[in-house]
Amino acid sequence: MKSLSVFCSPARYVQGEGATASLGAEISRLSLGQRVFVLAGKSAMKHLAVSWDSSFGQASLDYEVLEFAGECTRAEIERVKSAARLWQAEVIVGTGGGKVLDAARAVACDLDLPVVNCPTVASSDAPCSALSVVYKENGEFDSYLFYKRNPDLVLVDSAMVAKAPGRLLSAGMGDALATWFEARAVREASKLNQVGGAPTISATALAKLCYETLLEDGAASLAAVNRSEVDDHLERLIEANTLLSGLGFESGGLAVAHSVHNGLTTVEETHAFYHGEKVAFGVLVQLVLENRSEDEIQEVMKFCLSVNLPLTFSQLGIDRVEPALIDRIAERTVAPGETAHNEPFVVNAEMVAEALRQADRRGRDFLGLGRSG
Ligand SMILES: [Zn+2]
Repeated sequence: MKSLSVFCSPARYVQGEGATASLGAEISRLSLGQRVFVLAGKSAMKHLAVSWDSSFGQASLDYEVLEFAGECTRAEIERVKSAARLWQAEVIVGTGGGKVLDAARAVACDLDLPVVNCPTVASSDAPCSALSVVYKENGEFDSYLFYKRNPDLVLVDSAMVAKAPGRLLSAGMGDALATWFEARAVREASKLNQVGGAPTISATALAKLCYETLLEDGAASLAAVNRSEVDDHLERLIEANTLLSGLGFESGGLAVAHSVHNGLTTVEETHAFYHGEKVAFGVLVQLVLENRSEDEIQEVMKFCLSVNLPLTFSQLGIDRVEPALIDRIAERTVAPGETAHNEPFVVNAEMVAEALRQADRRGRDFLGLGRSG
């Protein structure tokens, strides 16, 4: 039987400057629960404490805030779970960067509670998804956790995103950059998306709109964040990084770019770099591997340069590119179960190793850095 098409998304998405003021009202409107357990990153606690108090107060909700320890590891998920259980939480709110939200979703899933994601940065497309990335204590990629449901509510306060460092916004653009190219590969290969269905035409179209929005608003929105200002470019770009990329990757599917990311996490030096920065280089590798047109590769490299995304190994902290290192990344990229196998042709480690070398060379040439290394 032909696979069924499946599309999934959060039940409700709210975005705008000062959106945190509506958090309590939104939770009430959706009847998610009276006892709100907030898992928060440091910066969220600092900037949003006053806003939470008035927003939850106005909606007559009880709330408790726990500070996130910094990494979404299995140990941290267990710690937050026991705290939430002890407090008899009825709804879990994750507020902060991608890892806080990953942990909040895992906790809510294990406790079978509704979950609200309030990203304070637009650094990845995880907030809308029903999936978390778990890392090992040493920062290496551990596994994906898949949940039954997408978040009940995703609420993005654009004012918080504008306050965050520009590099985080760029990282989100790197993650979003992969969405269209991976969705296209999955469609061409007639493979399945991240929720086990065939991609709907709407998911593929959203992925395309995601890429177009990056090209249109990427550089200007980075400039807005560098001025700590919300403008229309930034609003559209936040939507691309968060909603379009989130729906696009999950319902459109992943391919080589994200597997290259997973391969790169086996290299210690890359741990200082964000998910989306590694994914951006993965996009270049994927396009080289797919033998895409020169125009397309140039367009992608131009975009990466315009928003400070890496195009070479050295821009990812890898200065000594030994053959054994390339092989290690390539082997991990094509490990069983990796989305690298969602391409319309068979992908093996030798091909990936060659594409890694070529992508790095292309990046160096583009940046005028010569061919050494
Ligand atoms: Zn991603």
